[in-house]
Amino acid sequence: MCDTEEQPKPSPPPLHTAPPGHSRAGHRVFGWCSRCTGREVWEELLAWRTRQNQADDRSEAPDRATAPSKEAARG
Ligand SMILES: [Zn+2]
Repeated sequence: MCDTEEQPKPSPPPLHTAPPGHSRAGHRVFGWCSRCTGREVWEELLAWRTRQNQADDRSEAPDRATAPSKEAARG
């Protein structure tokens, strides 16, 4: 018996593209970026912060630190 069944070749990783001048990371993760029409920089910044906070900590803690940093406390 010979094995003539061909193994499927692994498909290459998908190419994540974005329009020229846009963020590939933003389009890969959110499907949009701050350069898209109708979007602003703060929206993308908030989306990244929210995503990272969810990845690091699943609690309902606010994004802002509740106490000043050591540097700020020194004045
Ligand atoms: Zn975009």
